[in-house]
Amino acid sequence: MHGKFLEEITMEDVLDIFYDSHLRKYTSLKKQGPNYTGLCIFHKERKPSFYIRPLKNDFVCYGCGIRGGPLILLANLSNNEDPFYFIKGKLKYEIKDFEKEQFEELLLKEQEKFGLRELFNVSLISSV
Ligand SMILES: [Zn+2]
Repeated sequence: MHGKFLEEITMEDVLDIFYDSHLRKYTSLKKQGPNYTGLCIFHKERKPSFYIRPLKNDFVCYGCGIRGGPLILLANLSNNEDPFYFIKGKLKYEIKDFEKEQFEELLLKEQEKFGLRELFNVSLISSV
């Protein structure tokens, strides 16, 4: 059976969903070497300083300093929908052993890894 574990979700997977999400309205990503760059979705800016880096499996903004991994970005793509159900509906493949509790636990771990005390919320800028 084709599928992945939640821990195996990569930035490449997130990019697929990105192009299909409400964020398209706020930023368009351009390929630059191995990375994708565009206007930051976490703060207002005129010159792109937001990068998705598939090789490092993270995203970073040199403007506001936010950095994170695939799950944090995915959780932000969900807009007002529950991130767990959003991801479940959007991914092209099945996630093995995909439970809501497990997702929330991994998301928290990723936030700790990147030193984020709380989940940044894209709706902050989209409501401006
Ligand atoms: Zn930023």
